Amino acid sequence: MKSTLVANWKMNPATFREAKLLFETTKKAADKAKNVQVIVAAPAIFLRQLAVGYRGRIAFALQNGFPEARGAHTGEISFAQGADSRASYAIIGHAERRAMGESNEQTKAKVAGALKQELTPILCVGEEKRDGSGQHFPFIREQLRAGLADVPASSIKKVLIAYEPVWVIGATKPMSPRDMHEMSIFIRKTIVEFYGEGGMESKILYGGSVDEISAPEMLRDGDVRGLLVGRASAETHHITKLLAAIESA
Ligand code: PEP
Repeated sequence: MKSTLVANWKMNPATFREAKLLFETTKKAADKAKNVQVIVAAPAIFLRQLAVGYRGRIAFALQNGFPEARGAHTGEISFAQGADSRASYAIIGHAERRAMGESNEQTKAKVAGALKQELTPILCVGEEKRDGSGQHFPFIREQLRAGLADVPASSIKKVLIAYEPVWVIGATKPMSPRDMHEMSIFIRKTIVEFYGEGGMESKILYGGSVDEISAPEMLRDGDVRGLLVGRASAETHHITKLLAAIESA
């Protein structure tokens, strides 16, 4: 099965000229990494121009979206507008959005809104901290329950789940593969509890301080089939090595 890389550029780079350069580098690296499904989550304002005329294997994602298709929502971008700009995926519930106040109820509406526009939701879940009490398990369960509440059984296989512990996003190294695998088993069990066998089909990704050095070990063994990467995906000197590392994992 192909590994997935979601390249979350966040609010980078500062100019479209730089974005074009980063995309050119990503395209070249993706052409060599035939076994990696690459999804570029560029800032929405750059998406259409990056996608115009592009006919390759890279897919595009919104980093966030608004569930209504149109209306009086100043500053928001709808999933419908994202789809019209050639996005086919949407990151939902990213830790940086949740830190700005996005609630589980809102992620629920966004997941359903993305599916309605035939975008594949990448639902991010992750605990803010671990304190040894095991509370991170019910916390993740609740994020999954709420985020998936309006997803019918027929659509669950379309949803990607990105496990991104908040304490390891933007850090110096990923969490231990062992702890990641433990959580991926928990996530799988939870989705199967909600959906039965159908829950076996949605892909689980990991995100949090992955680069070309750590990527292979995070993808080895277990049930994690892809990575959501921030910084190392948005820097030309990292992305080529990162994709090569995932390809050979
Ligand atoms: C992210 O953007 O979700 C992320 C994991 O960032 P980084 O790879 O920089 O930790």
